[in-house]
Amino acid sequence: MANGHPLTNVQQRDINAVLHPYTPLHKLAETGPLVMGHGKGVYLYDTQGKAYIEGMSGLWCAGLGFGDEEMIEAANEQMRTLPYYHLFGGKGMEPAIELAEKLKEIAPVPISKVFYTSSGSEANDTQVKLAWYYNNSLGRPEKKKIISRVKAYHGVTVMAASLTGLPGNHKGWDLPVDRVLHTDCPHHYRFSLEGESEAEFVARLAKSLKDMIEREGPETIAAFIAEPVMGAGGVIVPPSGYFAAIEPILREHDILIIADEVINGFGRTGNWWGSQSVGMTPTTISAAKQLTAAYAPLGAVLVPEDVYQAYVDHSAQLGSFGHGFTYGGHPVGCALGVKAIEIYQRRNIVEYVRGLTPTFEARLAKIKDHPLVGEVRSCGLVGAVEMVANKATKRSFDPAHGVGSNLAKFLEGHGAILRALGDTIAFCPPMIITEDELGELFNRFELALADTEAYVS
Ligand code: PLP
Repeated sequence: MANGHPLTNVQQRDINAVLHPYTPLHKLAETGPLVMGHGKGVYLYDTQGKAYIEGMSGLWCAGLGFGDEEMIEAANEQMRTLPYYHLFGGKGMEPAIELAEKLKEIAPVPISKVFYTSSGSEANDTQVKLAWYYNNSLGRPEKKKIISRVKAYHGVTVMAASLTGLPGNHKGWDLPVDRVLHTDCPHHYRFSLEGESEAEFVARLAKSLKDMIEREGPETIAAFIAEPVMGAGGVIVPPSGYFAAIEPILREHDILIIADEVINGFGRTGNWWGSQSVGMTPTTISAAKQLTAAYAPLGAVLVPEDVYQAYVDHSAQLGSFGHGFTYGGHPVGCALGVKAIEIYQRRNIVEYVRGLTPTFEARLAKIKDHPLVGEVRSCGLVGAVEMVANKATKRSFDPAHGVGSNLAKFLEGHGAILRALGDTIAFCPPMIITEDELGELFNRFELALADTEAYVS
């Protein structure tokens, strides 16, 4: 039985055979999996034929929605021409070259080379290995620690999960590994002191980072990694001046600045890159997700010339650059990356996102007055609603009540999908969503919020 209904055949087969990521495994048989059948535009249809507006672009990735014929054709064409090859040992292929050229063209800082992975986690894992390799090349074997932030999300491999600053990714997993440090989360609503202005908050966080670096010894710190706008930690938009305050401290100590653009990249925040929306100037960049609009798995690490030259020197010493993934630079993924970027450019996706942003902000602002809502926040077309037990004191609900996940379930009932990050509900609709569809998504969210209010009272 799932929520009082007998499980369908496909649900039962799912439960019998699939180990689900990020799922309360002990409850799955009771809640029943929601098995999707097909998608078109911003709509998904489950195997029973019920329609849902996909308000999260899947996992912040399906920026062009589902069933885009141009993307499907690009995949088919590449499948026919060369369905697989690799880049090991100096081999190459056209889609990987063309995508790297495009990424260099649109990157927010000067980039020399692109290294391909299959996912965002692998991109961030690679970033750490590259930072180590870089410092070994420069004769600085001690300079190896990586600073990440509380509430960061950088993925799930052993190192990427260590960089992640969320308890659920550490507890039970023997993580984080050493060499990883977490500095403060730039969320003013949650972490500012009584009466502290945004400017004072930023100054305090910069001082705290500086103290951490001095305490640890700058000669031991290789890199700082940050999502420009934090995603899975709750869609946290840093206060203005945050990166401007911390970057000089990092540069002074020759610490690489890694932008994790896995969610932010390719128009999501109303610019090509989240870095541009929040005034971040990275040394290197991780990309994935909307890189292919999720039509195939692909990740990328973008590095500048001086950093690349250090790899060349070290490779000369060691005999080879000993890193790479079987599917890194997969030709179908790269062909879809090329096509996605071409579509983003031709359909003016960045301008389109900017055009929708006022509606998105206005609908969030309308929700802000609701008694259960503590804060709403957004940047471009990614946003969140944080629910609280007490609006005045900002007190959170007891996590055991699962208020956020209940809202997400109510919302499914109303035919829409959003993601509960604790009691924060994230919005990240496909960037092609129309004004009407966006309005409908919020209408359905408001119904689910009313259900939630009835449920908690
Ligand atoms: N970095 C960020 C900012 C992410 O949001 C994610 C996934 O949500 C990752 C990295 C990990 O990417 P993947 O799930 O493709 O490994």
